[in-house]
Amino acid sequence: MRVVLSVGRYFKKRFGLRVRKIPISLQGFTCPNIDGFLAKGGCIYCDNESFSPSLVKIDKISQTKMNFSLQHNPLLDRQIQQLEEQFHWHADFHQEKFGVSKYMIYFQSYTNTYAPFDTLKTLYDRALSLPNVVGMSIGTRIDSVQDSVLELLGEYVKQGKEIWLEYGIQSVYNETLALTNRAHKIEGAKEMFEKTRALGIKVCAHLIYGLPKETPDMMLHSLDSVLEWGIDGIKIHPLYVVNGTRLAKMYKEGQYEPITMECFSDLIVKSLQKIPPDIVIQRISAGAHDDTLLAPKWCFDKNIQMRYLRDRLREVGIEY
Ligand code: SF4
Repeated sequence: MRVVLSVGRYFKKRFGLRVRKIPISLQGFTCPNIDGFLAKGGCIYCDNESFSPSLVKIDKISQTKMNFSLQHNPLLDRQIQQLEEQFHWHADFHQEKFGVSKYMIYFQSYTNTYAPFDTLKTLYDRALSLPNVVGMSIGTRIDSVQDSVLELLGEYVKQGKEIWLEYGIQSVYNETLALTNRAHKIEGAKEMFEKTRALGIKVCAHLIYGLPKETPDMMLHSLDSVLEWGIDGIKIHPLYVVNGTRLAKMYKEGQYEPITMECFSDLIVKSLQKIPPDIVIQRISAGAHDDTLLAPKWCFDKNIQMRYLRDRLREVGIEY
């Protein structure tokens, strides 16, 4: 039986003990695909709260966006406070319940390199100075990381920190990216991966299976492409429809048919057979465990999903 290098196993190997990723969501962060810098409305499936269910909810009433033209970020003190509060809440919980003693800060929701440089430096510095934090994982887009930010992250690597950039790729097909309103093309992604990894920063690619009008072959081709470009980790998840998104409208109008559990699990089996053993498989499932989920219903319960996927993988000699 081949044992997959899951994120838990990777951290255990790298640090010799359990490390927990702590998700962080900060007021004022947004995405250039939402605030109008590149586009408005975001990706057709985007609903950040549903995609980050464990996050402390942002106070929407007082939500203000950061203004890039201002030198001073009026939200910075509040962001630092939120970072510390969210960290301590999760760290205390995981230490008490599971005996975890080391942590990675995971800037998860929206685009976490899309802010003025001084704001990012202050928040990243603070994150890395929190007790027992061994590194950071930062969710972003390929078009939203300035060279200055990459260099800063490279400096943390030199100081011995574990730094990951998690790039939302989703598909390597420009027609799919256009259809889903990603507001970027795939050209440049390979170069971005290479630039990132050249600084010792690890790259995790995110892919979505079940995007509109994609065939299984297209999904596997997206995987082949990111493997060829060079990655350190990967997250693959099924596309699910959340109420209130543009995808929900397409689904209700019969313009989108969600991926079935059988098709998704077949693809996961084929994917894990292709992915080299030294690449960290950070995720192979996703769902929304509440009434925001419109379809497919099998994405409601992640535990059932994971049990099914694990059984299918065992049939071909892979232990997840
Ligand atoms: S890039 Fe991410 S945060 Fe931005 S609109 Fe798309 S899914 Fe939402």
